[in-house]
Amino acid sequence: MTKLGFIGLGNMGFHMARRLLENGHSVAVLDAREEALKPFQAYPNAVIASTPAEITQLADTILVSLPNPQVAKNVALGEYGLTSGRPFQTYIDLSTTGPEAAQQIAAALTERGVACLDAPVSGGVPGAEKGTLSIMVAGPKEAYDANLPVLEIIGNKTFYVGPEAGQAQTLKISNNYLSAVALIATSEAMVLGVKAGLDPQTMLDVFNVSSGRNSATLDKFPAAVLNRNFDYGFKSGLMYKDVALCMHEADRLGATMWIGSNVKEFFKLTKEHLGADSDTTEVVRLFEEWAKVRVEASEERLI
Ligand code: NAD
Repeated sequence: MTKLGFIGLGNMGFHMARRLLENGHSVAVLDAREEALKPFQAYPNAVIASTPAEITQLADTILVSLPNPQVAKNVALGEYGLTSGRPFQTYIDLSTTGPEAAQQIAAALTERGVACLDAPVSGGVPGAEKGTLSIMVAGPKEAYDANLPVLEIIGNKTFYVGPEAGQAQTLKISNNYLSAVALIATSEAMVLGVKAGLDPQTMLDVFNVSSGRNSATLDKFPAAVLNRNFDYGFKSGLMYKDVALCMHEADRLGATMWIGSNVKEFFKLTKEHLGADSDTTEVVRLFEEWAKVRVEASEERLI
């Protein structure tokens, strides 16, 4: 079996690395946080490494799941980064880091003979836990084919997007842009309805069999808003980062995104108002504050 490396053991990476270990791979793991490494001490086939360069000594295929493009670039290109280690076979970036970072990292690693795949995922923490993520992959087709068995431990819906570095990242940020728009538009519509005296569950029941249905009406509102748990598992800071990456790419390409500018500003406000670690479903709270109502299943809906 290919020797693997995994860098970034957060909400998503922890489960992905755990699944690779539980499926018999030996995995060299690394995270900037001490506590993220602790659970891996229990696996005899896990080795804890201290720098990305050290991981290159231990692994042929190195996967990363990191919070943003700056961190991904540091891990790949910085001091003690992947480029300062031994040339290895394949680099797979499972994070959402945008096409520009994917292109810059691929340019540096490809020069050293490393095949680079950008392979962002969708499906959240529950998908990572169960291995049911969707994975969109771009880069050399031979590297994709060779690493498919590893990717299939992480996800069960894998799409080959194209040969150019960053193509899968472009698809992923477009997807998250749509998801962000749907969340904000659904928050507005739900607050409007509740303010007018409608029952929020009835609203969702109707939307979900009508033309207004989307990922917020189908998943986020039923799972995390009506019950007021706000525990969907995706941080507001990450949503802001994804929409900002999408808008940055629109600028680079000269594509116009009218709605996108507002959505980006709105998530910036959310991040500042509720904190970067707040759950992304908490955006509804801002609309609730302005309208003085709560979108909740119980009948305590007036603020
Ligand atoms: P997270 O913040 O929980 O995890 C990131 C991990 O990277 C943390 O454990 C952190 O300590 C580690 N890290 C930071 N800097 C590091 C460094 N220099 N070296 C080594 N480790 C470092 O984030 P997450 O929710 O696991 O998301 C990871 C990526 O996956 C992000 O790009 C995110 O946008 C994307 N994503 C997340 C979800 C989700 O639902 N959470 C879904 C799809 C995609």
